[in-house]
This record gives sequence, C-alpha cells and structure tokens, in this order.
Amino acid sequence: MRLPHAGGGRSCPAASGLPLGLCSAGLALHHLNIAAGLYVHRAEADDGLVLPRQQALAGLGIRGDSVTWLGHSSVLLRLGGMTILTDPVLAGGFSLESPLPHRHAAPPLALDDLPPIDIVVISHGDYDHLHTPSLKAIAARFPKARILLPDGLEKYGEEAGFAAVDHPVVGETVVAGRARLTALAAVHGTRRNLLAKLDGEAYSWDIRIPGRAALFVGDSAHDGAVFGEIGRTRGPYDLALVPIGAFEPSPLVADMHSTPEDAALILAELRAKLGIGIHWGTFALSPEPLRAPADRFLAASDGHRRARVLRIGETLALGH
Ligand SMILES: [Zn+2]
Ligand SMILES: [Zn+2]
Repeated sequence: MRLPHAGGGRSCPAASGLPLGLCSAGLALHHLNIAAGLYVHRAEADDGLVLPRQQALAGLGIRGDSVTWLGHSSVLLRLGGMTILTDPVLAGGFSLESPLPHRHAAPPLALDDLPPIDIVVISHGDYDHLHTPSLKAIAARFPKARILLPDGLEKYGEEAGFAAVDHPVVGETVVAGRARLTALAAVHGTRRNLLAKLDGEAYSWDIRIPGRAALFVGDSAHDGAVFGEIGRTRGPYDLALVPIGAFEPSPLVADMHSTPEDAALILAELRAKLGIGIHWGTFALSPEPLRAPADRFLAASDGHRRARVLRIGETLALGH
C-alpha cells in the first residue's frame, strides 16, 4: 500500500512553500548537522532526563502490565504475560551498516537487564529505529524471540538470527502466542541510506492481548484521515505510543514527523485512554530544545487525554 504522505526522497513538504532547491539544500545541511552532533544537549539531558540505573532496575521489577521507556522509540511492553520490545536501539554496537545519531545521554538499562523478550516489532528501517547490532544481540540472548518488520525489511530479521521473522503487509495480522499484531499505516517512510532517499515503508502496529489494546506509532507525521480511520475502526486504545519529537526544522520535516500538538491530536483520533510521548530526548536529530516535545505535548493534551511522558528507563504500571 502506498502511504498517503510518505513523500518522495528529498522533496519539500507541500505546505512549506519553500522552493524545492532551497528545501533540498536545507535538508542536506540538516543531515550534516545531525551527523556532526550539532543538536546534542548533554548538559540538559544530565538534568534529570534519564532515570538513575538503580531506580530503572527497580521499575523493571514491577509485577503486572507495564510500559518501560528505554529511550526514543524503544519501549518494553509487558502485557498479559507477553514481553514485547519496540524499535530496540541499545547502547554500543557501532556499526557502519547501522550508523546511529549522537545520543544526548547514555541509557540506564542494557540488554542484560531486560526480561526474556517474546516479540520484537520494528516500525521502519530508519537508522534510529532499526539497529542491526541490537537485533543480533537480542536474537542471540533470546533465541525464542520472534520479530515483526514491515514487508521488505525481513532480511534484517533473518540476518540477525531470529528464529521466526514475520513481514506482513498493511492490514495483515500475525498471531504470536496470546498476542495479535496487525500492521497498520504510518505517515512516514524508511530512508535507510546516507542520502536520506525514500526506500521503504513505515508501519504503526496494533498490538492486542486479551483485555488490552495498544498502538505503537514509532515515527509518523500527522494525517487525520489515517489516524481517524484507525481510531474509528480499531479504537479505543488502552495505550498509544506516539512520536512527539524531531519536528524541527518544520518547513523541511513536516511530512515526516508530527509536532507535539499533532501527537495530541493523534491521541484524540485514536481514542486513546493513555498516550505516552516517544521519539524525543534521546538522539540529537533536530534543533528543537531538548524538553520542548514533552512540554508542548503535555500542554496540548491539556488534561483531556491521559498524556504522559516518562524519563528514560522509567516504568509505568498500567493497572487494570
Ligand atoms: Zn523515521
Ligand atoms: Zn525516527
């Protein structure tokens, strides 16, 4: 399925009004800034963004359903006895095949700290979401884990050594134990190359365990038609993980990333009872102030939705 606003490589968002040449030059400069680490905010990140390791470990000891933010779009979901890990990008593991942007701070938890993983889900192939050293380490440590990726990216699951690799097309459902995972649209694409050209799709994942419905949106712009339809046909959701960061420079990236206000709208469209803002505070991908995504997401949600942001490493018990 062709996504409505997935864009075409280095084109400008239609609404920006910028001439295409200026937009291309701006995007090239933006990617150079990311590579050079110009958007890093180490001092601000040191000021409480990351949970101290001992507290993070204590959170992992919580019994019952919970969600742990490991940074960016990496989230550990423990739902109905199943453990699901989204877009895992763990520390270390430098790889020319999977170059990572600079981090604002080191994460407090490592792979060895995590409970046994049943399912890994990948939203798309961008470097900040599909990290091959992390996938290899997970497959080696948890040989029973299976991985779900967008169709076309399955080779990364196979090469990492996962015993079971699923790559459904949009609309298809995979049954894994007590979990049912359905591939849904996202308003985003994969750009897994150094020129940042569009070369694949991006998905949202509908994750259902008896008694729980969650939606993982790893990276997406906002389109009310897309998320409104998901909310109408599949909502309400108990939990939605929605991207709130990397929205600047907005004239260049508005067709790829939602603003925090867009993310609040997505929560409403999904009819989410709880929404957690992800895709912020971890990698230096954007010139926005470090805490702007979280502050603006909470302000835009204005108490009408149960919008939350977590510290990196923090676990939230989901209750009943
Ligand atoms: Zn992306
Ligand atoms: Zn991303």
